[in-house]
Amino acid sequence: MKTPLIRSKKLSALNCCNVWLKMESSQVTGSFKERSIGHACTQYAKQGAKKFISSSGGNAGIAVAYIGHQLNIPVTVIVPKTTSKTAIELMRKDHAEVIVHGDSWLEANELALSYVTEENIYIHPFDDPYLWEGISTIVDEIINDGVTPDAIVLSIGGGSLLSGIQHGLKKHKLNIPVYAVETEGTASLNTAMQKKQHITLDKVTGIATTLAAKKICKHAFDLSQQEQIVGVTVSDLDALKACFEFLDDHRTLVEPACGAALSVLYDQKVEFSHLSDVLVIVCGGATTSLNHLLDLSKDLSFNPKKSL
Ligand SMILES: *Cc1c(COP(=O)(O)O)cnc(C)c1O
Repeated sequence: MKTPLIRSKKLSALNCCNVWLKMESSQVTGSFKERSIGHACTQYAKQGAKKFISSSGGNAGIAVAYIGHQLNIPVTVIVPKTTSKTAIELMRKDHAEVIVHGDSWLEANELALSYVTEENIYIHPFDDPYLWEGISTIVDEIINDGVTPDAIVLSIGGGSLLSGIQHGLKKHKLNIPVYAVETEGTASLNTAMQKKQHITLDKVTGIATTLAAKKICKHAFDLSQQEQIVGVTVSDLDALKACFEFLDDHRTLVEPACGAALSVLYDQKVEFSHLSDVLVIVCGGATTSLNHLLDLSKDLSFNPKKSL
């Protein structure tokens, strides 16, 4: 679905330029995954898919459940025991079969892969060119809305958002810097960029669980070696604070994975003042709630009431 493009008064004033928000948080399923998973599932449906299989306990699995229901194709999602109740409920509401299996994603994913046949199609959360094609419509929309950005800020998990935005920029022949933001505990792209190697992190930590891919997809790594991609890492606390500030300023609740990108603007971590139009992808998050953010605040000894 097309999402709103809003000029943020607060963030524009803070950064001395126009800061534009692409509100992917407004998607029915709460994140841009509707574009990526939506496009991939539609393509596989055309090719004869009879069932979709996913192992994501997060926004990707929630999007597969929703899209499958829209397309009238059954969905099975196998998730590890660590998956939140909220996520499982959201998937079941869209009539997906949810199987809870294993202590980690690796085990759940193994079972998911064992279900795959020629007609039972595995929907990867971030590593599939169809996903990137679906995401590239974000760039089509902002150009149609009359904004040509001078820079883009976005969050990085497995790298589909980055790959999709780059695909869109190419379509429109835009060669601009893209700031790729991760938290310190999930810095698989930033570490790979520093080492100039497609590395796998030993472990991922922290509150931005949606960004917790130990290894980014090969395509995103290759892009980071060629295109104007600038790596940024932020602390968990900065990502969380940005969620609360954004809630106050724009009355929209997002998860820390999205707060990470927003914190670049809230804390002026990049000097944008020489640029006129900076676009932030507000990637969203389906399972976050005010109570969840308050629980995370306690864990990080942050008191939103005192600080805002
Ligand atoms: C999927 C997702 C990300 C990370 O995207 P990748 O394509 O895996 O890099 C960030 N934020 C939200 C809300 C997401 O759903």
